[in-house]
Amino acid sequence: MTPDIAPDVLRQHLIDPEICIRCNTCEETCPIDAITHDDRNYVVDPGKCDSCNVCLAPCPTGAIDNWRQVARASAYTIAQQLAWDALPPPQAVDAATPADIPQEVARITAVATAGQGGAAAPPWSAAHPYVNLHTLAKPAVATVSGNFRLTDDGASSDIRHIVLDFGSTAFPVLEGQTIGIVPPGTDAHGRPHFVRLYSIASPRDGERPRYNNVALTVKRVTEDHAGKAVRGVASNYLCDLEKGATVHVVGPFGTSFLMPNHPGSSLLMICTGTGSAPMRAMTERRRRRIALKEGGQLMLFFGARAPEELPYFGPLMKLPRDFIDINFAFSRVPGQPKQYVQDVIRTRGADVVRLLRDEQCYVYVCGLKGMEDGVTEAFRDACRAHGLDWDALLPAMRAHGRYHLETY
Ligand code: NAP
Repeated sequence: MTPDIAPDVLRQHLIDPEICIRCNTCEETCPIDAITHDDRNYVVDPGKCDSCNVCLAPCPTGAIDNWRQVARASAYTIAQQLAWDALPPPQAVDAATPADIPQEVARITAVATAGQGGAAAPPWSAAHPYVNLHTLAKPAVATVSGNFRLTDDGASSDIRHIVLDFGSTAFPVLEGQTIGIVPPGTDAHGRPHFVRLYSIASPRDGERPRYNNVALTVKRVTEDHAGKAVRGVASNYLCDLEKGATVHVVGPFGTSFLMPNHPGSSLLMICTGTGSAPMRAMTERRRRRIALKEGGQLMLFFGARAPEELPYFGPLMKLPRDFIDINFAFSRVPGQPKQYVQDVIRTRGADVVRLLRDEQCYVYVCGLKGMEDGVTEAFRDACRAHGLDWDALLPAMRAHGRYHLETY
């Protein structure tokens, strides 16, 4: 049986009869014969399915990735499913518990998007994201296949590029999504540690193309935002991992901060520090498809203390200038004035406003909570200087999935 959300509630796995092409892949893949069919529909037996999710990745259409939270007593039977032409509307219990996302993940996500009043709609052409395939009750086990220090040895921050390999476990992700890391052990009160969210820094086809792996950008936390010494539980755990170690992972999460897929779409990306992780994923996705000549522009504003503190500085500098327009803002370079991303946005105001006006341009802001107000003011100023009303533009951009913010 599928794991409990609440004792009386079942997260029921269903197949969408409108999308399913009846290719039999799911039935062949299911290790416990929970999927069956007649000459009309493929269906999942609620009494057998244990949500192992092995069937999800091989499905060519995504018809397999449908779930309904139902009262256990009224789970859809095989006979009911075989008669469907379309999936039924959500039951009342679905509306009451909209997604079985761990509370802690929901809380972090709410904080990250609070500055814009919650998560925006995804771009219309974003791919379908898989969410919460691996839960706290049943996390995926990944193996560390690489742990590289990105920042110079002399730099004050230890920022790492960590590659996790999922082996034969399905863990499909999209650029902009996050995964949850569950540090082992317990806290000072003997309770299991909370999940920590990290943005995926690799494109959907893997850090190494066509390998089932993802990369994370992790900064070893040694002090809090006020500069007081603290030891970040998850970041130190991750940064210290040796190649070959195993890690418990939940997720993926995120249905909003996703990149557009249609040719001609442009990306305007603004980040600070390790908030660069999703920008690296999106940039790498576009770089791998450069030969397809899909058009669109990439413009990046990237803030860090100094060049040696900048994750991905070397590879970024090697990207062709006609592929991506890169703008750095360094705040702690001796002998140079302190610069933040918002200062550079103002300097490039005319080009920024040209992209904001372009309905095919999608904006992503990620990094420190403190940058939110400064970036918003810079957009407002740039718009004012170039004849655009930012306060009217922003709600329209959000409604069309064109403005995404995630700050922590
Ligand atoms: P950091 O090194 O502390 O700061 C990066 C740059 O941002 C520095 O130049 C800093 O300048 C500047 N900055 C500070 N306050 C600013 C403000 N109000 N407006 C604009 N720029 C400002 O950054 P970090 O420690 O890497 O932190 C990155 C943030 O991204 C964290 O909050 C993290 O949670 C978040 N994040 C991480 C991930 C991930 O996957 N790892 C994903 C998404 C978001 P100063 O010289 O003044 O410090």
